[in-house]
Amino acid sequence: MDRKALEERVQELNDLLKEYGHAYYVLDRPTVPDSVYDSLMQELLSIEAENPDLIYPDSPSQRVGGEILEGFSKVVHEYPMLSLSNVFNEEDIRDFDRRVQAGAGQVSYICELKIDGLAVSLKYENGTFVQGSTRGDGTVGEDITANLKTIRTIPLKLAEPVTIEVRGEAYMPKKSFMRLNEARDENGEEPFANPRNAAAGSLRQLDPKIAASRNLAVFIYGVGGDGAAFGQDSHSDSLDYLASIGFETNKKSKRCKTIEDVLAYIESWQERRQDLDYEIDGIVIKVDNYEDQEQLGFTAKSPRWATAYKFPAEEVHTKLLDIELSV
Ligand code: NAD
Repeated sequence: MDRKALEERVQELNDLLKEYGHAYYVLDRPTVPDSVYDSLMQELLSIEAENPDLIYPDSPSQRVGGEILEGFSKVVHEYPMLSLSNVFNEEDIRDFDRRVQAGAGQVSYICELKIDGLAVSLKYENGTFVQGSTRGDGTVGEDITANLKTIRTIPLKLAEPVTIEVRGEAYMPKKSFMRLNEARDENGEEPFANPRNAAAGSLRQLDPKIAASRNLAVFIYGVGGDGAAFGQDSHSDSLDYLASIGFETNKKSKRCKTIEDVLAYIESWQERRQDLDYEIDGIVIKVDNYEDQEQLGFTAKSPRWATAYKFPAEEVHTKLLDIELSV
């Protein structure tokens, strides 16, 4: 591609990704399948890697999430809520492992299911739930405390009087999603495209009665800020601690000593993902030990000590929409 064509393609990718990102993050109504968004983003990232002068400051590759919806109070995150880099195949995973080993030597990993919902941050003061927010643009999120209080799996009081901020994924179980879309269909309302958008659409409503009626749930997957501040040496120990003070953590996570164990975990869940009663869109691979994590650090957008393996798109048939959707 000559220079002019390359510049035009970069502009086109910026425009398309901004348009799709707005529909997904702000309106909770995606207009294209995730696989389309992901492949355009990969194309942009690879052009930008070879032509750093074509990275615009407002490029979608440089940003986390979307803007804030009007009507909600803003919450400035004490610790930024970042995104994750994505990997799509075995070669990418082995490259990630090589980069990690180059930065921190031999490490252990922890693999977790990548729950397909929306990221939330929950703040507790002396053991009492005081504020819950969305990720927003990573720095500023929406205050959705009233909506989060309607979710039964979020403890309002912890087993210890600890002041802590935790991060997790709010999601809609598959059964609740099916029931909700059936009801919407009967009422002549447009069905939600998938449980992720139904969960996000439910939590970003000003009336908490709507969230209360939607049977949402949350898995907590980590501490905001310095995990070691609570006396643990590793992410896996922190997950045990979080469960011990009352949070619902996902019990399917697994410590993996080698990248071969990581690959085996991914393969086993790729085959069985349909058996779960919630949607997952991949596997999150995290370096387990906090000292190793610290050594690897962060880019502007994501930690270098973690990555998300995204499952390949699969064709599914949704009875309600009566169209083939690629997810
Ligand atoms: P991401 O979804 O690739 O990864 C980051 C998120 O993973 C975190 O914020 C967290 O919410 C979530 N997560 C789930 N389980 C987790 C766990 N166990 N540990 C840590 N995090 C966990 O990044 P993103 O920036 O939220 O979104 C990008 C993705 O959104 C793209 O890959 C794309 O598929 C989708 N998207 C789709 C469209 C569309 O039009 N269809 C538009 C924009 C984005």
